[in-house]
Amino acid sequence: MREIYALNDQTISQIAAGEIIENPASIIKELVENAIDANADRISIRLSDNLLDEIRIADNGDGIEKSQITKAFSRHATSKLRTISDLDRITSLGFRGEALASIANISQMECVTKTAESDFAYRFTVEKGVVSRGKPVGAPVGTTMIVRDIFYNTPVRKKFLNTTTKEIRRIVEVVELLALSHQDVSIHLSRNQKTLLHSKVSDDKINHIYSILGKDIAKNLLPISFDTESYKIEGFIGNNLLHRATPDREFLFVNGRGVKNSDIARAIRKVYRSLIPLNHYPVYVLYITIDPILIDVNIHPQKQTIRLSNENQLTTILERLAGEKLLPKREIPSIDALN
Ligand code: ADP
Ligand code: MG
Repeated sequence: MREIYALNDQTISQIAAGEIIENPASIIKELVENAIDANADRISIRLSDNLLDEIRIADNGDGIEKSQITKAFSRHATSKLRTISDLDRITSLGFRGEALASIANISQMECVTKTAESDFAYRFTVEKGVVSRGKPVGAPVGTTMIVRDIFYNTPVRKKFLNTTTKEIRRIVEVVELLALSHQDVSIHLSRNQKTLLHSKVSDDKINHIYSILGKDIAKNLLPISFDTESYKIEGFIGNNLLHRATPDREFLFVNGRGVKNSDIARAIRKVYRSLIPLNHYPVYVLYITIDPILIDVNIHPQKQTIRLSNENQLTTILERLAGEKLLPKREIPSIDALN
């Protein structure tokens, strides 16, 4: 007989943690999203020389009340969602209540946090998912999360990591997405005192993009915007001088979340076909604001792929908008599909 065993909770949560927390970049994504959800407008991310030794993320957000800290590190505990019906109206980046528990399961964590109402900051350590009693310390309002010895207890996960250079590229990509979608937040990413990315708060979207993607891209971007009753499109598309050998500068944000949608990417690439070299990709930064009821965000554990209810209409409009900016008049795709 082949006996079937129930896994204990610790094992279950390590398996699940492996799904969300695949690499240092996914830790950073989750912790920065938490900082943004907590209304921080300054976030600093510090990497150690050996990426798995320590990641330190400090924010000036709302902080976590001492009485709530154990819940914050418990699985499926969140302050952002109560019932399934709230999912339709979700505006926060997180909502599964899994990230802190998952990260704590594959590392040693420390958390220093202070709310505006509390007289002290408190420092907690989290080992094997268990949160220590808090010690009062001096610190400003906000939260610092320190993640050490990453994957110390999941050697397989460690083995599958890429080279440090590739993991850093992944981290920069994650932070770029978060920075581009949050004009009102300054994010500083550094390793060994060396700045890898520093996004600056600016009322001017192009200045903000400049601080993240650099001058060569910012100076070749053309603004586009479009409003309908059900959504709003804003952003920039590159002129024909901007093209890349890899699709690493095609940025699409839906309601503040960096997402992938292959139909939209394909529609925009089509417009550039006659403008940029074969097998190269365009550059664009597009922000779509849409009634959350029309999006399904719950289809991928990392929440990166989304489905939109009116995708066809949207791709047609984007194709036309890009065409109007870039192509000679006769080549602009027809808007007939809309009527
Ligand atoms: P989720 O973000 O899905 O709610 P997490 O496990 O990432 O789940 O976080 C659990 C809870 O801990 C959050 O709902 C929030 O209340 C709190 N929290 C986490 N990080 C921070 C932070 N940096 N500042 C304030 N509160 C935080
Ligand atoms: Mg979260």
